[in-house]
Amino acid sequence: MVSDTPLIELRGIRRRYGGQNGAPEVEVLHGIDLRIAAGEFVAIVGSSGSGKSTLMNLLGCLDRPSAGSYHFAGHDVAELDADQLAWLRREAFGFVFQGYHLIATESACENVEVPALYAGMSAEERRQRASALLTRLGLGERLDYRPGQLSGGQQQRVSIARALMNGGRIILADEPTGALDSHSGREVMILLRELAAAGHTVILITHDREVAAQARRVIEIRDGAIIGDSAAPFGGAQPNPAALPAPSFDGMSLQGAGWSALGEVLRSAWRVMLLNRFRTALTLLGIVIGVASVIVMLAIGLGTKQKVLAQMASMGATTLYLYAAQPPEGGPWGVLSESDLEALGRLPEIDLFTPVIGNPRMVQYGNASRDIYVFASNEQLPAIQHWPVAEGRFFTAAEDQNLAPVVVLGHKARTFFFRDEPNPLGKQLLIGEAPFEVIGVMAEKGRESGADYYDEMVFIPYAAGRARVYQDIAEPEYAALTAASTDQVRAAESAARELLLARHGREDFQVDNAAAKVQAEAETQDSMTRMLGLIAAVSLLVGGIGVMNVMLMTVRERTREIGVRMATGARQRDILRQFLGEAVLVTLVGGSIGVLVGLIGGAALLAAGVPLIFSLSAMLLAFACAVGTGLLFGYLPAKTAAALDPVAALASE
Ligand code: ADP
Ligand code: MG
Repeated sequence: MVSDTPLIELRGIRRRYGGQNGAPEVEVLHGIDLRIAAGEFVAIVGSSGSGKSTLMNLLGCLDRPSAGSYHFAGHDVAELDADQLAWLRREAFGFVFQGYHLIATESACENVEVPALYAGMSAEERRQRASALLTRLGLGERLDYRPGQLSGGQQQRVSIARALMNGGRIILADEPTGALDSHSGREVMILLRELAAAGHTVILITHDREVAAQARRVIEIRDGAIIGDSAAPFGGAQPNPAALPAPSFDGMSLQGAGWSALGEVLRSAWRVMLLNRFRTALTLLGIVIGVASVIVMLAIGLGTKQKVLAQMASMGATTLYLYAAQPPEGGPWGVLSESDLEALGRLPEIDLFTPVIGNPRMVQYGNASRDIYVFASNEQLPAIQHWPVAEGRFFTAAEDQNLAPVVVLGHKARTFFFRDEPNPLGKQLLIGEAPFEVIGVMAEKGRESGADYYDEMVFIPYAAGRARVYQDIAEPEYAALTAASTDQVRAAESAARELLLARHGREDFQVDNAAAKVQAEAETQDSMTRMLGLIAAVSLLVGGIGVMNVMLMTVRERTREIGVRMATGARQRDILRQFLGEAVLVTLVGGSIGVLVGLIGGAALLAAGVPLIFSLSAMLLAFACAVGTGLLFGYLPAKTAAALDPVAALASE
């Protein structure tokens, strides 16, 4: 049964070009009325420039009319949005162009698969159907040939197979034989006749009357108007009993390709990358340099920061040292007295303090003896140095006052004297002439701290040291003080200066602000790290701009491919994903290589003694930055591609 609703019904269709940007408005189609039933084989014939292609683009929903109405199977096409139009193109139409419009980078089979990709068909099904179609059209041997490796006639057959991939209920062929030799042209016409016989609606556009004569109905067009129709609408047309019906609008699926096609997107992106190896390599280089420098800079930043932190931890970020000195104006050396220290300790800005005498002395245990730095201080030392005791305990204030002969060992001193003994506590060391009992061992400071010389020392109470080891030394050699907090370091320094100036009447001392030095170093390191990070970020940015540049070029070069993809049913979002996929793939590959280069470069720097710490999070960050760059800088070109007008894209060179 043939329904009354024609498959295609045009009423008063006009198409005007121009009228913008000062271009004169030209009307190319002047009110076309046309009805085509399902299963008809129609030729539209007219001389060049008469408006045939314009009409075909309208019929195929690649373009919208300026005026008039187009009903497809009873549905007003003007009411369909972009995604619905893409669905209609995909389900209803198959385009065959004069210039074949195959995607040069894809094989014959893959070209045929394209429309099904956007219809969401599975990869295996696609491949099967495409090879079956190509085999039916006599190209079974050439599935994996690129378009450039096929003759014109063969390419046109590939494009016919592509038109049939999603069913091709309506084949729109614009001068399909125009570029072919007469033999190939005849073959293509035979194919179209067969398709028409099998129930496909075939609309053939040609300027060649002989070709047109092979259709069952011939419509003549001149200067944008129909001047003849071999069948008055429906008058003489024989209904085709085998006619394929219009696709069901009820079952319209706007799902399309979806993310399942991601693999396909990446595969074709990979191929494009390989085909433009040199260009890709240069683009990659930008990303590689960017990512590698981000990784190395972050590692350096982390490494130096860690070093400074370790220094801070061992020296304390609040420590001041006080020395007796010769005043700048000359005169005798100053003397730091214990009462000076007590007065300093009462300053509110000062928290802890200890007098220090330290000199090498002969230290002996059993047969082992060695010249060792013997450090005499009060019980505050572990607190001042932020330095815990590992075994036993430190001496107390009471022991200091009572001249207790006790000693605490540095880590290396313990190893030297008590290598084979599990427990040195309670053992007697001879320092100079005096016996001292070991009551504790300090934790290891280690190389990291930059103060591992402390590990070699032994520590005794100040008063006991004065009485038993340093009888010849009357006053502290220097004093270590701590400020009450990190932000009072400078205040503590000036308060200490003022107090001593008042007490001594002249500047016969020196304050060494170790804390300020460490803090200043930390700040320099921080700003260095920020600078380096900035440079790295800028290089990544430059890499990103490179990606954008190449992507814009790619979009321009492949405008026609984009048109073909749209004509075969790609939605804007599919095009967007494809180009975004290409940009992201470039940056993914570049990011991976960049991570590798960063690791190698970092390892080299590490070997050269630069303190640097790799962190997984820094690497992930750099990688994410790279991919983010791809998304960011790929978006504009991809958006540009997706926004292309299919007709203009197809017409581009
Ligand atoms: P045919 O396919 O019959 O050779 P076309 O439909 O391609 O003819 O073109 C018909 C007329 O419309 C031509 O005069 C052409 O210059 C004009 N034309 C086609 N496309 C555009 C366009 N995008 N902008 C302006 N004029 C156009
Ligand atoms: Mg044309």
